[in-house]
Amino acid sequence: MKLLTIISSQLVIAVLLSAPMLGRAAEIDSSALRAVVTLQAIRGHQAELQAIANANGGNRAEGTSGFNASLDYVADQLFAAGYAVTIESFDTTANLIAELPGSDDRLVIVGAHLDSVSSGPGIQDNGSGSAAILEIALQMKALNIESVNRVRFVWWSGEETSSHGVLSHVLNMSMSEREAALYLNFDMIGSPNFVRFVYDGDSSDSVTVNPAGSEKIEAVFLDYFAGQGLATKATDFSEHQALPIFRIAGIPVGGLFAGAFAIKTTDEAAIFGGTAGDQHDPCHHLACDTFANVSLEVLDQFSDAAAHAVLYFALTSIVEERLADLISTVRGLVIPSKDGLSAKLDAALTAVEAGNERAAMNILRAFINQVEAKRRSGGLSNAEADALVATAQIIIDSLS
Ligand SMILES: [Zn+2]
Repeated sequence: MKLLTIISSQLVIAVLLSAPMLGRAAEIDSSALRAVVTLQAIRGHQAELQAIANANGGNRAEGTSGFNASLDYVADQLFAAGYAVTIESFDTTANLIAELPGSDDRLVIVGAHLDSVSSGPGIQDNGSGSAAILEIALQMKALNIESVNRVRFVWWSGEETSSHGVLSHVLNMSMSEREAALYLNFDMIGSPNFVRFVYDGDSSDSVTVNPAGSEKIEAVFLDYFAGQGLATKATDFSEHQALPIFRIAGIPVGGLFAGAFAIKTTDEAAIFGGTAGDQHDPCHHLACDTFANVSLEVLDQFSDAAAHAVLYFALTSIVEERLADLISTVRGLVIPSKDGLSAKLDAALTAVEAGNERAAMNILRAFINQVEAKRRSGGLSNAEADALVATAQIIIDSLS
């Protein structure tokens, strides 16, 4: 902890009350899940979707036999793994939903659109995301993962035409579900001429304003990729239909995207390889979006990153996360070092992290008493003392 002089007590309170949730992601070990979410299994699901398209006029578009067969395939896999499967009908088609039970305090929605365009089989767009979240759902069940939070996997219909699948789902959600929800989107995660795009939750690289909490989702992905030594690039996902609807509903959003019709730049080629001047996916929305239209490299990397993020949000309670963020924020504050005030606050935070709430409370009460004594003796201005008491009080409130 840096023991510097306090700059502005108003600043302390302002930072505390408006602090974005940028605390380091809690340590979640996803290696066991990632080990069993294999590229081979995901390719197996994509092969099935290709066979379905072949048998149904070359596509899997909303309202067609190809889409219905795709939905049956995913539903059968989930059912065999032990999931209760729900069909959410709208217009003349339906979304497919399967859930892992957990606390209603946090609802982790993991989505991929299952429908293709009518002009091709859509094995990358979006057989890739559909297959990846299917395998993640199957393996979370196989590993008997007891989710802390409720996890809802959704395979959307109607994404390529109207967005009505996402829209009717969000409209069907209760207010408490919307308040508890976050959304992870996986669309086109195997683009052959790929860029590792991560949705720009904190709007650092784009103008799109996202609901609070979106920056946390981005941070979880960025932490993961940093740990893997893999470069990423921010995107505002303007090419995606699902996200604006969640965003408008105030639900935090995030996800991965390997590119669609945009042209790869020379800068991108220098970082990610591939061919500058070509589309990220030269077969986007075309008949050639087949089983062969893939980068196995990015599909493998992105399906592992998706597994990590799903597990992170499945296992991290919102209460724990807010506390961790608060600790991180307070540790980043400038607290006067005089008379051991900052050391005392640090000791309280360490006790919180160790789960020793009683000790933390005692230290924080002693901290407040010391601040008040220094206020009376003139060692702290009223503004400084107010800020420090407020800081301690916010931590106490978060514990009780
Ligand atoms: Zn798509």
